Amino acid sequence: MLRRVLADTGDALVSVFFPGGCRLCERLLTRASRLPICEECLGAFPALPLRVCSICGSPALAATTLDGSNTESPPGSNQRTCLDCTERTYRFDRARSYAAYRGTLARAVVLLKFERIEPLAAYFAERLATLAQRACLAADIVVPVPLHRVRERERGFNQAELIAREVARRLKLPFKPVLLMRTKARPDKHILSNDERWRIVRGAFATRPGSQVDNKRVLLLDDVMTTGATLDACAGALLEAGAKSVIGLTVARAVRRETPTGIGE
Ligand SMILES: [Zn+2]
Ligand SMILES: [Zn+2]
Repeated sequence: MLRRVLADTGDALVSVFFPGGCRLCERLLTRASRLPICEECLGAFPALPLRVCSICGSPALAATTLDGSNTESPPGSNQRTCLDCTERTYRFDRARSYAAYRGTLARAVVLLKFERIEPLAAYFAERLATLAQRACLAADIVVPVPLHRVRERERGFNQAELIAREVARRLKLPFKPVLLMRTKARPDKHILSNDERWRIVRGAFATRPGSQVDNKRVLLLDDVMTTGATLDACAGALLEAGAKSVIGLTVARAVRRETPTGIGE
């Protein structure tokens, strides 16, 4: 029964049966660390390039900003955007992610969703804190994207909160885990279309009565950004409650278009 449940939730959890080795590839761990992932798997995390869409952080930039024909934005300016951001506006100012949601990184994110591996949350937080500093993501408070209370009770913890707490500690910012709440649960369905993702988060978040967000710049943390719908819905609730601005920061990013090569900075 347990084995079947685990098989249903994906390959990442098979490694749970081999607690002595790397949780992703079963290779024996040779270094003394509480992080149960080997150097090879960590080294295979597909980190995103520095040059990304200035708004949503996607590595899939619009072609005009890649070949230099967009004379409106001189090289090195912050005015490069992806195709999605030429068509859509978000309620968060900017979003950035550490790596693409695929390969060993995707499996590590899934692992953290089901197992409270604090050293893994700390590993991600270290990368995100560095990214926040390099991308000059200025903020006053750190807020995790909340789970619905029923979901959090089932799982026992919120993985976004584990990561956000460590990011706040590294950036020396106040950590506000109970400021936002999810009032509508995500449906159990695993695969959602983009339209469904936007529809189900509409009005799904609210700030708790009495929350102090007036004029605060919020750094909003989550594990994965897919369409940006969740970050957008959270940002809407925070702005309504008086926040000055919201920046989204996630460990992983679902990247639909292939990242163009040869444009690294
Ligand atoms: Zn490994
Ligand atoms: Zn974009």
